[in-house]
Amino acid sequence: MSLKVYIAGKFVNKEDAKISVYDHGLLYGDGVFEGIRSYAGQVFRLTEHVDRLFESARAIHLVIPMTRQEVAQAIIDTLAVNNFTDAYIRAIVTRGAGSLGLDPRKTTDPQVIIITDTISLYPEEFYENGLAIITAGTIRNHPAALSPRIKSLNYLNNIMAKIEGTNAGCLEALMLNHAGYVAECTGDNIFIVKKGVVHTPSIDAGILDGITRGAVIDLATEKGLAVVERTMERHDILTADECFLTGTAAEVIPVTKLDGRPIGTGEVGPTTKMLRGAFQKMVRGEAY
Ligand code: PMP
Repeated sequence: MSLKVYIAGKFVNKEDAKISVYDHGLLYGDGVFEGIRSYAGQVFRLTEHVDRLFESARAIHLVIPMTRQEVAQAIIDTLAVNNFTDAYIRAIVTRGAGSLGLDPRKTTDPQVIIITDTISLYPEEFYENGLAIITAGTIRNHPAALSPRIKSLNYLNNIMAKIEGTNAGCLEALMLNHAGYVAECTGDNIFIVKKGVVHTPSIDAGILDGITRGAVIDLATEKGLAVVERTMERHDILTADECFLTGTAAEVIPVTKLDGRPIGTGEVGPTTKMLRGAFQKMVRGEAY
């Protein structure tokens, strides 16, 4: 049976899920999206994801032609139609079809699209041994140009850094901000652990306000760890005891090398292991 995609208020077969080539989502990356997961039939932090989708849309002056409740319900319905319990969910809102010019006023019909599919994860070995990452030369978008808090359909900034990473044989790459401080990775937020304290760049570093990041901050706090959101330098990562990344797809993944240099002992550290284990239980609604 073909996967069903929600588009224009209907469920259509994956092969038939199409939008106009005049859609500004395609022509200009003019639109917003969310990456969401469901575990054992429950969508993880659905309200937060829908809120962030609406906030991204608001920030680019795009009116989503549905209410938050309707979008949340459409996500749940798309999972149900496809009989998914553990899935990756992609919600997309495009500006809609317009003229070939930039002017969003000439667009009509913003498209709300929901795709659910199996999740593609980092290979298991990286959870056991940690990722090696490099620092990309491509800096994160300047917040005054295109705020990294907007999860927009224009991901070229991240893709450029990702190419640098994959060219160097790394699946993720660290991005610094315009001021030279640590921002985030191409599709994940970054944390370090030093002397038992968890540190992560604050949102004003020019980063996506990651939903997994928020969940891990809550989790670490519940576990009695101090969490500091602050300005971070590459130096802080190179001299950390542990480092890990967070993201909807990645969950909590250890980083054991930056730019060819081992972080801490070069092995996955105890705090990272504990947080990963607790996170995996939390998302499945188990005691952690
Ligand atoms: N930063 C960027 C640039 C991202 O694209 C993502 C999502 N893939 C994240 C961080 C992690 O955010 P979340 O935990 O909400 O998935």
